[in-house]
Amino acid sequence: MDLEFTEEQKRVREGAIAFARADLQPDVLRQEPSHAFPFGLWRKCAAFGVQGLPMPKEYGGRGMDALSTVIAMEALGYGCADQGLLFSIHAQLWSVQTPICKFGTPAQKEKYLPKLCDGTWIGAHCMSEPASGSDSFHLSTSAVRKDDRYILNGSKEFVTNGPVADLLLVFATVDPTKGIWGLIAFLVETTTRGVVRGAKDDKLGLNTAQMGSVTFEDCEIPTECVLGREGQGSAIFNHSMAWERSCILASTVGAMQRQLEQSTQYAKERRQFGKPIGSFQLVASRLVDMKVRLETARLLLYQTASGLAKGDLSTMTAAIAKLYISECAVQSSLDAIQIHGARGVSKAFGIEGDLRDAMAGRIYSGTSEIQRLIIARGMGLPADC
Ligand SMILES: Cc1cc2nc3c(=O)[nH]c(=O)nc-3n(C[C@H](O)[C@H](O)[C@H](O)COP(=O)(O)OP(=O)(O)OC[C@H]3O[C@@H](n4cnc5c(N)ncnc54)[C@H](O)[C@@H]3O)c2cc1C
Repeated sequence: MDLEFTEEQKRVREGAIAFARADLQPDVLRQEPSHAFPFGLWRKCAAFGVQGLPMPKEYGGRGMDALSTVIAMEALGYGCADQGLLFSIHAQLWSVQTPICKFGTPAQKEKYLPKLCDGTWIGAHCMSEPASGSDSFHLSTSAVRKDDRYILNGSKEFVTNGPVADLLLVFATVDPTKGIWGLIAFLVETTTRGVVRGAKDDKLGLNTAQMGSVTFEDCEIPTECVLGREGQGSAIFNHSMAWERSCILASTVGAMQRQLEQSTQYAKERRQFGKPIGSFQLVASRLVDMKVRLETARLLLYQTASGLAKGDLSTMTAAIAKLYISECAVQSSLDAIQIHGARGVSKAFGIEGDLRDAMAGRIYSGTSEIQRLIIARGMGLPADC
């Protein structure tokens, strides 16, 4: 595998870092205390082409392959301290735009992709329900066919972008007795009668990303809003998750690079017992472990994205990347706090925020336990669920 960046990829990386530092960083930090959704920054990102990175040019995208896209998203994560905005973009990119690209009709692509790429609209993916989390296909949200429409009823929770979304990709069942073969996906505009967006949840980290519930009360959804076809819901979800798990932690890898640079610098400057703390082997060893995690996480990210760029969409590879990078980010964030001592814990220094952002990585897109189950199954081990 050749991981030498092309000249274009180097330009993409440098351009994204410069953009994030100049246009995202100061505004995000101002936005941070209110945790409001940064609509202005969303549009700035769209104008820079972020929401269109891997989307076809004919729909307003930049037509990049998966590897170049994760290089850009990593660079944004390195340049921009708050990961919430980037997480919101990832959620739309991988679990709304990518499935529309793959399963949408020409009319659906024409109608929605340009608006999602240019930042006019915000998309959200509605799968999780009060009784269906890890057991994601055990849905209660029902879709009952009535002539040329479906009547949608049910409740979704923990939907990223839910409180601010214009377009929802909603999963439901036409018949629970059919199991995964009864699953169906719809593209639902939030102006549809009966769609109720809940208030944003207050959560640990990823602060500017808005998360909330969405309920559907007798929503009439025309058949042309079905994504794919009846019975294809699980395939659409699995396809989205393979992309999402492969790519969603790209910005986290960028954040790990920034965190390591900060921590190394601090260990060189902070003196105790008459010496820089970095001269103590116990501290240096923590920094070395952070470095090893960063390099291996990045290699796995690039390897997975490079496979995607060649058309290799592997559920197991995606699960390995998701599991490994998210766990590395949590451990390195703990190490960064430890190296900074009380300054690591104090909110005034901005070190602890990386841990708050990293924690959710072990939960969203399937928990670490679920990734382990997928990997075990891929290894041919008997799965217990
Ligand atoms: C920041 C964030 C953003 C999210 N965004 C979205 C979104 O946009 N759209 C959406 O639909 N959902 C979203 N989610 C929800 C997410 O997909 C679920 O939280 C996740 O799938 C886990 O479900 P749960 O929280 O109900 O946990 P549960 O499934 O109830 O699991 C609880 C615990 O039990 C463990 N567990 C469950 N089953 C097993 C098993 N078989 N073996 C071993 N351990 C098991 C889990 O690993 C976990 O530790 C988001 C979540 C977060 C944190």
